[in-house]
Amino acid sequence: MVMLLHLMCFPMKQRGEGWIDHAGWVFDGLQLLALNVILWSFNRLLMKPRLRLLINTGLIIWIVSAAFDVMDEIVRQPLWVGYYIEDVTQLVGMLSVTLGVFYIVRYLNDKYANASIDSFRDELTSLPNRRYFMTTLRELTDDALFVFLIDIDFFKKINDSFGHDRGDDVLRGFGKMLSSFYDDNILACRIGGEEFAVIVNTTDIIAAQQIAGQLLSCTRTLVIADNIRFTVSIGACLKKEQESVKEVLKRADVALYQAKSGGRNRVQWAGTNSKKPA
Ligand code: GH3
Ligand code: MG
Ligand code: MG
Repeated sequence: MVMLLHLMCFPMKQRGEGWIDHAGWVFDGLQLLALNVILWSFNRLLMKPRLRLLINTGLIIWIVSAAFDVMDEIVRQPLWVGYYIEDVTQLVGMLSVTLGVFYIVRYLNDKYANASIDSFRDELTSLPNRRYFMTTLRELTDDALFVFLIDIDFFKKINDSFGHDRGDDVLRGFGKMLSSFYDDNILACRIGGEEFAVIVNTTDIIAAQQIAGQLLSCTRTLVIADNIRFTVSIGACLKKEQESVKEVLKRADVALYQAKSGGRNRVQWAGTNSKKPA
């Protein structure tokens, strides 16, 4: 009814004569073409169906507006077409597309944040992984601190006797126990199969010895399903200020090797020499 009223009452849109008006249909045509290309491009992207629907609807409404815009360069249209079809549809189309793009950006942002967290997390134990451990240690180059390399003793036997799944349970259980040690100065990570590492950000040797002792004793009391008990060996090393990550890990590794060959289920403190004994 309103439209009919306007159709009868509204004057026809006037067309100008200048070169700008003649070129108008070219720009309108380009806009129509661009919108179609955008629609086609969006549909080639992998997107959540609801997002696709929102963007598609917005673009199609926008394309309708652009089509009327092109048409008014060819056929004279009443003014209400310009107001109600061109302008309103253009506004609705633009708003839906903008909303869709906003949701896409938010969705990608969340995905990126999760991917960043996952890239630093060990999937099995949910502890920080080797990459995180190395990054943290590099960031602490200027600090003196303790590094413990921890290796589960005879883990292969656990796998062989109880199965790989139970072996995984042992790793999870041990990881959970390690995470109970977390505080502002203690970071525990899983750096390999049955290998873990702890950074203790202190130079207090007594405190470090206590933590290493607690790690051993807590592991001894840990019981996993099927009554699995196990022990760990620890190679502990005081990282000096400015000492390279490579050097400190080498010394801790030698200490771990000595803890193993010295009977396992114990802590070996690293000396200053990173050469493995023959
Ligand atoms: P050692 O006391 O000398 O450390 O002996 P070990 O048996 O613990 O060491 P070894 O290197 O011989 O065996 C490690 C085993 O850990 C071999 C590998 O199959 C197992 N392993 C590595 N990653 C995983 C894992 O994610 N899950 C399970 N279940 N087993 C794993
Ligand atoms: Mg090992
Ligand atoms: Mg082992």
